[in-house]
Amino acid sequence: MNDELKIKFWGVRGSYPTPGAGTVKYGGNTACVEINAGGRTIILDAGTGIIPLGRELAKQKHPLELLLLFSHLHHDHTQGFPFFVPAYIPNTRLHIFGPGGTPETLKHILEHNQSAETFPLSLRDMSAAKTIESVCESRVIVWDEENVRVVESGLGLSPEAVVIHIHKSHAHPGGVYIYRISWRGKSVVYATDTEGYVGMDRKLVAFARNADVLIHDAQYSEEHYRGQLAGFPSTQGYGHSTAAMACEVAEAAETGELVLFHHDPAYSDDLVAAQESVAQRIFPDSRAAYEGFEIKLSPTPSPLSMGEGKRRMDVKYVEND
Ligand SMILES: [Zn+2]
Ligand SMILES: [Zn+2]
Repeated sequence: MNDELKIKFWGVRGSYPTPGAGTVKYGGNTACVEINAGGRTIILDAGTGIIPLGRELAKQKHPLELLLLFSHLHHDHTQGFPFFVPAYIPNTRLHIFGPGGTPETLKHILEHNQSAETFPLSLRDMSAAKTIESVCESRVIVWDEENVRVVESGLGLSPEAVVIHIHKSHAHPGGVYIYRISWRGKSVVYATDTEGYVGMDRKLVAFARNADVLIHDAQYSEEHYRGQLAGFPSTQGYGHSTAAMACEVAEAAETGELVLFHHDPAYSDDLVAAQESVAQRIFPDSRAAYEGFEIKLSPTPSPLSMGEGKRRMDVKYVEND
């Protein structure tokens, strides 16, 4: 159980939550992905998907220690945080990191999101022990046998360490952090809220090189992006990608499975499925994320996996009940 890297999707929608009959298959919660690396829980973004995740985590008997990473601080990535139950449990330890101009920026924004005028409970009312810090993209976040900390370099660490590198993308209004989470030679890249462009984001391709799983923004259909979808203006420059753009990065970076993420809130399940089909024609190992979708990466190395190329994966799909 603790010997694998597990990815579970709790919120896959972009912009705003979309409950209703038309979004039952993929789900309507906003961005939240859980990564479990050998028993350590890392949470990517706190959209409304973090609310059901929090309820699940709160059922655990042992005191919780959790690492929460914000890609950026747009509403759809923070709006679930005030309802995150573990943050109200006193013996929980929460390590929270994200972007920001000064080390305090992230804390100030989260405080503002729960100011007396906007929410009945403040950050202080969340009784978990919290470390909240904006980190530079040049820093590395580490979680090993000692603790969770920010270091200068990912070199010389224990093989058991979860190592998180950051790439700051400017292909989204205000910028966004893209994270690469590595553990025991396996790696997942979380690249939400980023827009592809002609000639490709070469820095992102280098950052995602040979990742076992690439989670990439794929909010728009090609027609929508170009302004050819009836009733929708062009979304060029909005900071989100098409499925084809996501495939381009996966292909160039020679990643393992590509997971399309941050589905447009106006899209029905059929439209999201159509995006998945588009992607699979370009990059066959593609899948549209849905709530409850799990990927498990087996740590068992094969002789082939020791080389420079893609690592062998043992991917299992588990439906939520
Ligand atoms: Zn977003
Ligand atoms: Zn955004």
